[in-house]
Amino acid sequence: MAKIISFANQKGGVGKTTSAINIAAGTGLKGKKTLLLDCDPQGNASSGVGIRRNRIGATTYDILIGRARAEDAIIKTDYQNLSVLPSSMPLAAAELELADLEDRAFRLKNAIESVKNEYDYIFIIDCPPSLGMLTINALTASDGVIVPMQCEYFSLEGLTQILSTVKQVKRLYNPDLSLVGILITMHNGRLNLSVQVLDELKKHYADKLFSTPISRNVRLSEAPSFGMPIQYYDKYSKGSSAYDDIVAELLERT
Ligand code: ADP
Ligand code: MG
Repeated sequence: MAKIISFANQKGGVGKTTSAINIAAGTGLKGKKTLLLDCDPQGNASSGVGIRRNRIGATTYDILIGRARAEDAIIKTDYQNLSVLPSSMPLAAAELELADLEDRAFRLKNAIESVKNEYDYIFIIDCPPSLGMLTINALTASDGVIVPMQCEYFSLEGLTQILSTVKQVKRLYNPDLSLVGILITMHNGRLNLSVQVLDELKKHYADKLFSTPISRNVRLSEAPSFGMPIQYYDKYSKGSSAYDDIVAELLERT
C-alpha cells in the first residue's frame, strides 16, 4: 500500500512544487511506483512532468466533488514509474463546495482509497494559504508531511504555522499523521542570514531536517518549462544530485 506524503507550507514560492516533482521522479527512478497528486489550483505539476493541457481530462477537483474516479483522472507520464493526477483552476471553488458536506475533511482520502494499492508512494502537492479545506483534505489523506522551506527572515514563522496546522489536523482528523522532514530549498550558503536560520533549525529540529539542503540552482528553475524533472533534464546538475540525496534519505525514513 502506498505511503502518502504531502508537501505543505502556508508560504508560497518555497519550492513545494519543484520538490514534489523531483522527489517523485526520483522515487520512480528507484523503482517505486509513484503518483504525484496536485492539490494546488494553480497547479503546474502536470506541465512540469510534460503533460500537455489537452491530455488532461478529470482533475483533483472532479475526484473531490465525486464527479470522477481517481483511476480515471490519473495520467501516465513518459518518466519511469511516474503518474500524475492533475489539478485545475476550478479546484479553488472546491473550498466552498465542500464546506457543507459532512465528510468534507475526508473527501480526498476516500477518493484515493481505490488507487492506494497501485503505488508505493503518493505525493500530494498542497496549496497555500493553509487551513482551507484543500489543505485539510491533503493532510487528512496523508501518512506524513514534508515541509519545504527557505532559510529567510520569516521562514521560521511559516514553519511554526504549518507545524501547528499539522497538529490540529492530527487531533481532529488524522491521529497517524507524522512530520517526515523539513527540507531546505533555494539555499545560499554564502548569505549570513541563511546560515544563521539553518543553524537555528539544526538546534531545534535536528532529527527532522533532511541532511542535504537544496541549493539555488538555475537548472532546477529551467527544467519545468521543458516538462522535465531535473533527473531527466540535467542529471549531472547540482540540483539533480541534491534531490538524489533527499530521495535516498526519504526511502530510509519511510
Ligand atoms: P511553491 O510550489 O512552494 O510555490 P515552487 O516550487 O513553484 O514553489 O518554486 C518557486 C520558484 O522558485 C519557481 O520559479 C521555481 O522554479 C524556483 N525554484 C524552486 N527551487 C529552486 C532552486 N533550488 N533553485 C532555483 N530555483 C528554484
Ligand atoms: Mg506550487
